[in-house]
Amino acid sequence: MTHDDTLVWFRRDLRAYDHAALYAALSKSPRVHCVFVFDREILDPLPSRADRRVEFIWHSVRELQQALVTGGGGLVVLHGRAREEIPALAARLKVDAVFANHDYEPAALERDDAVSQALAAAGTAFITCKDQVIFEKSEILTLDGRPFSIFTAYKNAWLKRLDGFFLKAYPVEKYFDRLAVDAGPSMPTLADIGFEPTNLRELKITPGMAGASRLFAEFKKRMADYHERRDFPAVRGSSYLSVHLRFGTISIRALAAEAWHAANRGAAVWLSELIWRDFYFMILYHHPRVVSHAFRPEYDAIRFANNPDLFRAWCEARTGYPLIDAAMRQLNTSGYMHNRLRMVTASFLVKDLQVDWRKGERYFAEKLNDYDLAANNGGWQWAASTGCDAQPYFRIFNPVTQSEKFDAAGKFIRHYVPELANCDDKFIHAPWRMDTAQQAKAGVIIGRDYPAPAVDHAVARQVMLDLYARARDG
Ligand SMILES: Cc1cc2nc3c(=O)[nH]c(=O)nc-3n(C[C@H](O)[C@H](O)[C@H](O)COP(=O)(O)OP(=O)(O)OC[C@H]3O[C@@H](n4cnc5c(N)ncnc54)[C@H](O)[C@@H]3O)c2cc1C
Repeated sequence: MTHDDTLVWFRRDLRAYDHAALYAALSKSPRVHCVFVFDREILDPLPSRADRRVEFIWHSVRELQQALVTGGGGLVVLHGRAREEIPALAARLKVDAVFANHDYEPAALERDDAVSQALAAAGTAFITCKDQVIFEKSEILTLDGRPFSIFTAYKNAWLKRLDGFFLKAYPVEKYFDRLAVDAGPSMPTLADIGFEPTNLRELKITPGMAGASRLFAEFKKRMADYHERRDFPAVRGSSYLSVHLRFGTISIRALAAEAWHAANRGAAVWLSELIWRDFYFMILYHHPRVVSHAFRPEYDAIRFANNPDLFRAWCEARTGYPLIDAAMRQLNTSGYMHNRLRMVTASFLVKDLQVDWRKGERYFAEKLNDYDLAANNGGWQWAASTGCDAQPYFRIFNPVTQSEKFDAAGKFIRHYVPELANCDDKFIHAPWRMDTAQQAKAGVIIGRDYPAPAVDHAVARQVMLDLYARARDG
């Protein structure tokens, strides 16, 4: 079906190339308007006015606007409630269809439903496209037509289904002469939308398509070694592209294509991580109840102790376990946490401190630059052993042995916990094992300069095993 004027609504897809909705609109209509809404429904409830994600989005939207202007068009940038702004703009521009890319989060789906109804009432179509994943919804199912819940089986089916077709870029540039130039309000400043600059620049996080492509170019040189380097937080082993994938400043098709064609061990393991991302979107789509419930309902019965002091100690990096505290300081100061450490800190909160995984999940949601409901919820439920493909509840990360294995010389710990910088390698992972003379020599008195461990891992482990067994046995 062809259309007259259409409108493309950008959301978490802030790029002007390889863009499914933009391509669909451009290829079907002679004039395409573009819009981004700083949605007050999302922004107003954020607890901090200095939010790296908002600043990241702001810069990315500005870059997108410049790219569209360079292409001969423009981008209307609004600040308001998207569910009202989009139908109003569609009416003002007299478009007969609004295009957007699929979202899979329940709140976004509810908003899209409301927008779709408002548009329909005015005779305007709302057309959505798959863009942020390779396979979505029910594209990959078990042989008996059900959604997978085991990752390896899903991954095998995903790889079997993959061919070049699914990795092809949408050539939007071909139709850029159809972009419309709209006279609208000028782009609001960060202050206009109620936010302040953060330490994004200091952290050397470059937003937008330019930042993403630079990062990816650098990662491509390291991709072949990914499988060997990715687990060590003091080593630059992973891609650091998560925030760009979150806001769509890079195309998932471009990344998956590169990994698929590279055909080496590192690339294959990295492609697996991209498949985990599809997997969790698929889980959220089919099981929206996971947002507040355990994927495996029997684990909703766990009676977590939820000691507020222990939760605060975890948030504030005062658990006395150096790797945990270093990881939490990385999160609190930069909005990033290495994947291995996300697994270990999440496991520690739930299984050592016996705090409900939902509290940790909310804390990560507040702090992570790359916060994504599907991946974060999936990661937390995996670590808490309550989810699909969870690690069994009786397998519990030991925070000291994890530290010895993945930060052997304590390089990561020394960076984030300088109080322990002078500890011997032998004690850096468990500094409470130093006697008084050794503590004096290292310049750190445990209990004064650095906390004593908040819990005894061996004891906590047993308590946790009982909690889980009781929940599981009803
Ligand atoms: C408790 C917990 C919470 C997490 N919360 C998030 C989150 O909110 N947002 C998020 O993007 N990732 C989350 N992850 C997954 C993973 O830790 C991050 O994607 C990764 O650390 C980002 O760094 P990177 O870009 O260098 O990853 P790379 O190792 O380079 O991986 C490439 C990309 O694959 C995707 N990816 C990698 N691992 C996973 C995974 N396990 N699940 C889903 N996608 C994955 C990400 O988009 C990532 O950018 C979480 C993991 C855990 C255990």
